Amino acid sequence: MARAAFQLAGQNVAAGKAEKIAIPVSDLSAGMQAQLEARIFHGKEDGPVIFVSGAIHGDEIIGTEIIRRLMKKLNPKHIAGTILFVPVVNMYGFISHSRYLPDRRDLNRSFPGSERGSLASQLASIFYTEIVTKCELGIDIHSAAIHRYNLPQIRIAAGNARLKKLALEFGAPALIEAPLRDGSLREIAKGDGVDMLLLEAGEGLRFDELSIRTGVNGILRVMRQLGMIKTKSLGKIPAPPAQVTKDAWLRASRGGVCRLQAVSGDAFKKGDTLAIISDIFGQEEEKLIAPADGIIIGHATLPIVNQGDAILHIAEVRIFAYVEERMDAINDAVLSNAMLDEDEVI
Ligand SMILES: [Zn+2]
Repeated sequence: MARAAFQLAGQNVAAGKAEKIAIPVSDLSAGMQAQLEARIFHGKEDGPVIFVSGAIHGDEIIGTEIIRRLMKKLNPKHIAGTILFVPVVNMYGFISHSRYLPDRRDLNRSFPGSERGSLASQLASIFYTEIVTKCELGIDIHSAAIHRYNLPQIRIAAGNARLKKLALEFGAPALIEAPLRDGSLREIAKGDGVDMLLLEAGEGLRFDELSIRTGVNGILRVMRQLGMIKTKSLGKIPAPPAQVTKDAWLRASRGGVCRLQAVSGDAFKKGDTLAIISDIFGQEEEKLIAPADGIIIGHATLPIVNQGDAILHIAEVRIFAYVEERMDAINDAVLSNAMLDEDEVI
């Protein structure tokens, strides 16, 4: 017997098909309609139902490109299960290149939301009830803010063995297990039994190939691990990720012009100089010194800084030996994997 159609917002997607569904969200001030757009790949065979979302923070657009490439690679006839792609959740922030909504709220502090709440709360409610709660697993994609870069990294709730296994399979250079923020999608979804992986990668309002390919590769690996697709081309992960045990921001000790001596993905030893900040005449230099051995998981890309600005996101890791070589091996493998080029459909 054929698999039943997938239903979303009053529309059906037949087994073996991919369809776009638009869910009305609200009227904009000038009269246009805002709608949440999803593309559903409803596989021919039974299997897990998962979602992949981008741009919950409207200027964190890397997920939109990761999803675009994934949709080109997948054929619903060859999928077991169903995948819901939402390339842009916060359409308001996306069109205005802003993290927030027009009501200045942060969507990722607005879950589960409410039908009669603020604009952010209403959007959160629609995304949550129509997409998230229909799935057993979600992969939500973020980037650093504008003028910052994040080393591609997977973040998961601490103490969830299933998520840990999927996070290791994802194959990002770094893995962080950390407590969840109140009102965040991950925190609310956990209460409803929806496991979530969060990919943080790249810079706000920019694309970079390492982040994009890490995302495409990782999501395909997770789908393979869940039995949703079959492919040998992904291969094995060349090395385990750097597992972060502790992280902190190094901040500018003075305002001026900052020269980074190390960037995301670099390892350092206690006492190393990680950045030098001078005044605009190149004088009065101050150094930012590494307080312990570790790696850099995020950095500021804007070289002019005010005192107190976050410059480097540094992390201690479980196994320090050869950590940079391991991360480089992971990055090299994903950058050179021809299977991730656009023309091959799985
Ligand atoms: Zn974000």
